[in-house]
Amino acid sequence: MAAAVPARLYFRHPACLEHDPRAHSPDHPDTPERLLSLEQHMRARAWLGWEPREAPAASEAELELVHSARHVRAIAELCAAGGGELDADTFVGEASFRAALHAAGGACAMVRALLSGEAAAGFCGVRPAGHHAERDRAMGFCLFDNVAVAAELAIRELGVERVFILDWDVHHGNGTAEIFRRRRDVLFASIHQSPLYPGTGPLGDAGSGAGEGFTLNLPVPPGSDGEVWLSLLEHVVLPAAAAFAPQLVLVSAGYDAHLADPLAGCRLATEDFVQMTCHVRDAAASWGAPLGAVLEGGYEPRVLAECVEATLLALGGEGEALSAAPEALLTSRAAAHVGHYWPL
Ligand SMILES: [Zn+2]
Repeated sequence: MAAAVPARLYFRHPACLEHDPRAHSPDHPDTPERLLSLEQHMRARAWLGWEPREAPAASEAELELVHSARHVRAIAELCAAGGGELDADTFVGEASFRAALHAAGGACAMVRALLSGEAAAGFCGVRPAGHHAERDRAMGFCLFDNVAVAAELAIRELGVERVFILDWDVHHGNGTAEIFRRRRDVLFASIHQSPLYPGTGPLGDAGSGAGEGFTLNLPVPPGSDGEVWLSLLEHVVLPAAAAFAPQLVLVSAGYDAHLADPLAGCRLATEDFVQMTCHVRDAAASWGAPLGAVLEGGYEPRVLAECVEATLLALGGEGEALSAAPEALLTSRAAAHVGHYWPL
């Protein structure tokens, strides 16, 4: 029998389509149509050769790797009671707890498949998103921090010593940053628009205590384009991550920095997400670290589908990472700060 070829696995679950904040907030941008559009797009393209897989539900023990039991119970109880408001922009219905379990469980299953060698690449097309959720608090459309749960699972149960998390959602990944801010075994890097929700993540916040230097916050002004984002990635984030020598790379893959996104003011084109993916793909390969991405934001459904397709093709090996000279202003400022902790 021929040896099994590692697959490219796409984790999804029908429950993720059931979470609908509009029951409590009619104009809410996190609609089921985001995923419906994405999945129709993928089906029409035979999932681009990726293998769609049902995301299992995360266990309570998995969620409690990074969340308090009280937080998990509070979400479960509010949903069981029919749902309601968790904060000014986070709403749940009866189906939301189940959606969130499968979103976090997909990230866990992806990491298990990547680390066992079963998967050559992974993507989780799930919702609700995760990166704003803190240990004890849901916020910013997020209930459980899917990427953080998966990273902690890799460290506590799957023998990984160092995880690099890149968050390219346009909003700061405050939840992931808080969960790991005192840790040296997770390098967290976020490129995000500032000022913008949630208002955290200044360049000067590099983590706390023993974890100082292991949080890389790279805010960019509204209007920033792909040149700025790619420059920060190529000349600041990836050199620091190379020095960290991760054994697993996870991307908090939001697509709301796209020019067409209604929630923010950055100006990335779909091709810029291709380039970011190519750079991270090649870096992870050079480190011998498996790479998986988990969907975060992205609120223009057609553009979201187009960007995820582009990401999957690049993760699958298409496209070439193009090197560019550092953009002058923001990159030199960020490099001066990050260079305090890492050889760039
Ligand atoms: Zn976002």
